[in-house]
Amino acid sequence: MTKAFTTYLNDKGQDLASLSNEAIYQELLHYVKETAENMPKNTAKRKVYYISAEFLIGKLLSNNLINLGVYQEVKEALSTVGKSISEVEDLEPEPSLGNGGLGRLASCFIDSMSTLGINGEGVGLNYHFGLFKQVFKDNQQGAEPNDWIQDESWLIPTDVHYDVPFKDFTLRSRLDRLDILGYHRDSKNYLNLFDIDGLNYDLIEDGITFDKTKIKENLTLFLYPDDSDKAGELLRIYQQYFMVSNAAQLLIDEAIERGSNVRDLADYAYVQINDTHPSMVIPELIRLLTEKHGLTFEEAVTIVKEMVGYTNHTILAEALEKWPLDYLNEVVPHLVTIIEKLDALVAKEVSDVNLHIIDESGRVHMAHMDIHFATSVNGVAALHTEILKNSELKDFYELYPEKFNNKTNGITFRRWLEFANQDLAAYVKELIGDDYLTDATKLEKLVAFVDDSTVHEQLDAIKYQNKLQLKRYLKEHKGIDLDEHSIIDTQIKRFHEYKRQQMNALYVIYKYMEIKRGHLPKRKLTVIFGGKAAPAYIIAQDVIHLILSLSELINNDPEVSPYLNVHLVENYNVTVAEHLIPATDISEQISLASKEASGTGNMKFMLNGALTLGTMDGANVEIAELAGMDNIYTFGKDSDTIIDLYDRAGYVSRDYYESDERIKEAVDFILSEDLLAVGNQERLERLYHELLNKDWFMTLIDLAEYIDIKEKILTDYEDRQAWNRKVVHNIAKAGFFSSDRTIAQYNQDIWHS
Ligand SMILES: *Cc1c(COP(=O)(O)O)cnc(C)c1O
Repeated sequence: MTKAFTTYLNDKGQDLASLSNEAIYQELLHYVKETAENMPKNTAKRKVYYISAEFLIGKLLSNNLINLGVYQEVKEALSTVGKSISEVEDLEPEPSLGNGGLGRLASCFIDSMSTLGINGEGVGLNYHFGLFKQVFKDNQQGAEPNDWIQDESWLIPTDVHYDVPFKDFTLRSRLDRLDILGYHRDSKNYLNLFDIDGLNYDLIEDGITFDKTKIKENLTLFLYPDDSDKAGELLRIYQQYFMVSNAAQLLIDEAIERGSNVRDLADYAYVQINDTHPSMVIPELIRLLTEKHGLTFEEAVTIVKEMVGYTNHTILAEALEKWPLDYLNEVVPHLVTIIEKLDALVAKEVSDVNLHIIDESGRVHMAHMDIHFATSVNGVAALHTEILKNSELKDFYELYPEKFNNKTNGITFRRWLEFANQDLAAYVKELIGDDYLTDATKLEKLVAFVDDSTVHEQLDAIKYQNKLQLKRYLKEHKGIDLDEHSIIDTQIKRFHEYKRQQMNALYVIYKYMEIKRGHLPKRKLTVIFGGKAAPAYIIAQDVIHLILSLSELINNDPEVSPYLNVHLVENYNVTVAEHLIPATDISEQISLASKEASGTGNMKFMLNGALTLGTMDGANVEIAELAGMDNIYTFGKDSDTIIDLYDRAGYVSRDYYESDERIKEAVDFILSEDLLAVGNQERLERLYHELLNKDWFMTLIDLAEYIDIKEKILTDYEDRQAWNRKVVHNIAKAGFFSSDRTIAQYNQDIWHS
C-alpha cells in the first residue's frame, strides 16, 4: 500500500493548503521518488535491455501517480484546498529525449514492461538540451535549446561509471536513472541514461549551433545534432558508441553479479536494438567478451548471436544507417577490426555482395550486421513487416525466414486514455468497469453500446468539454484562439514529405477558395497541425512556412474565418498531444502508402474517439480491419501500386496537376499574390517547384480522392448518430493497440524472459 500524499505531508509537518503550486510540485516529486525508492526491482533470470537513442517519455508526475494508484486521491486532496492538479502538472518541464514516434514507442514499451512485471530496462543517453524547442518567427521555424533538467528532477544519480575508449581518448561515463513504475505493481524497472561529466554549455552559440568537434565537452548536449555535415555525423557515431559500450558493460557486469560465468551470458541478457542507432552493440559485446573476458572470437560470436534482436522502423532508404569505414576508423578503430571479421564471416556463407555488411564503397550497413547476427528481425505493423519480407529485405528474408516476425506497435492506455482523457476514461469505467486498464481487449464490451443514444449524447458532451479544455490550453500556452464549436481535424506528427502535411495544406487552400466562391460549409472546420521539422530538412521547413502563412491569411480573413481556421501549434511534444488528441474529431493519417511503418498517433486518436481519415498504410490497415471499413475513412493508392510506381519511376506529378482543375488551382495558389503578401517568396517558390517537378512522395497522386473523402467526412459529421456509432466501434476495438499486448508478444516470441 502506498502511503497517502496527505499523510506524507503531515509526517513532514507540511500543510497542503498553505503550499504554493511550485512547492506542491516539489513535494509530489519527492513523494513519488521516495515511494518508488522503496520498491524492489523486477527480477527474472534473463533481463531485457531495450537500447534506444530516444525515449520521448513526456512528463512523469501524473503518469507515476496513476501507476501508483493515487492520482484521484491526490487530485481530490488538492481540489479540497482549492488547488488544481493540472496547474501543478503544468510546472513540470517535459524531458525532450526523443524526436517522435520511435522515442515515444520506447517510452510506452518501458511502461508496459514494468506493468507486466518483466525484468526489462531502457538504456539510452541523457541529452541535456534534448531535441530543440521550436519557435515560430516570420512564419518560419526557429530552434532553441530545450533546457529541461532542473535542480530537482526525476533523475536519480548512481555511482555506476564505465570507461569508454575512443581512438584518441577515453571518456568516463556517469549513469543517471529514472524509476519506471508499472500500473498497480509494487516492483519497478529503470530507464538507464548515460551521461558524461564535463559538459560545457558555453559551447552553444546561437540557437542550437555549437562546436561539434569538442567531444569531451559536447557528447550529451543535444539529441541528434544536425548531421548534414561531417562533424555532425562523427558526433553521432561518438554518441552511438558511447551509448552501446555503456549498455554492453552494464549488461555484462549485471549478469556476472547475478551468477553468469559469461559463457552463459545469453541466459542472463537479451538486447533489443531499436532501429539501427544501437547496432554497434554487436561488435562491442564481442570486443568485451574477447578482450576483457578471455573468450575466443568464435565463442563470443556464438554467444552474441543468441542474445540480440533487431527492430526495423522504416523503409525509407535514407534512414537505414550506413557509416563510412573511414569515419568509424576516426572514432572507434577497435570496432572496425571486429566489424571486418564479422563481414568476412558473412562473406564465407553468403555470396551475394548486396547482403554483406561492408559494401564496395567501404560503407558499413548497420541493418545488415543486425540481421545476420540477431535471433529476430521484426517490423512494427503487419503491412510494414510484409513489405520488409517481400521487397525491402526480401533477400534477407529468403536467407533467414525464421528470423522475421511482426510486432504491431502499441501505446500505453494509462497515459493516452486514463490520464489524457479523464472524462472519457471515467465514463468507460461507468459502462464496462476498469479491467480494460490491465486487459485492454475488455474494451470490446463497449460494442454493446454502439446504438445507445444516451451513450452517444455523453460522448458528444465529453468531446465538447475536451474542446473547451483544449481552448483554454491553447489560449494560455500557445496564443491560439480555438473555436470549440467547430469540427476539429488534427494532423500532429513530425514534418516529413512522406507524411504529406502538404496534401492537407492543399486541401485547406481548396476549402479557402470554395468559401471565397460562396460555397459555405454547414459547420466551421478547424484544421490543426503540430510538429517539428529537422533543421536540415529544407522542404519540410517550407511546408511549415506554407501552413503558417495560410494560417495568417485565413484566420484574419473575415469572409473565411467564420467557416475555416488553420492553426499550427508551436513546439509539438507529448504534452501538446495529450491536450489535442482527446478534443479531436478527425485524425489525419495520410502518409503515402508503404511509407509509414506503423504510426502510433493513429492509435491514440482511435482510442480517444476520433475517426481516422487515412491511407491504407502502416497500422491504419489494422485499424481498418479491427474497426471495420464502415467505421474509418480510407482513400488513396495502395502500397503495391506505389511500390510498383517507384520501381518503374512511373510517377509524373505534373500529369496530376494538369488532370484536375482543383489540384491546379490549389498548387498555383502557393504563388498567389495573397500568399506572397504574408509569406517568403524563396520558400514558396521552392515548394511550388518541388510539388510540380519532383514531388518524390507523390502528394498529387492522392489529392483528388483526398478532397472528395474529406468533403464526405465533413458531411457525415452532421449525422451525429451514425458518427457516434462509428466512434464507439473505434474505441471498442482499440484494445489491440495497447503496448501491453505488444510487449507480451515481444516477450513470448523473442525475449523469453
Ligand atoms: C505519438 C507521438 C508521435 C508519433 O506520431 P505519428 O503520428 O505516429 O508519427 C510523435 N510525437 C509525439 C509527441 C507523440 O506523442
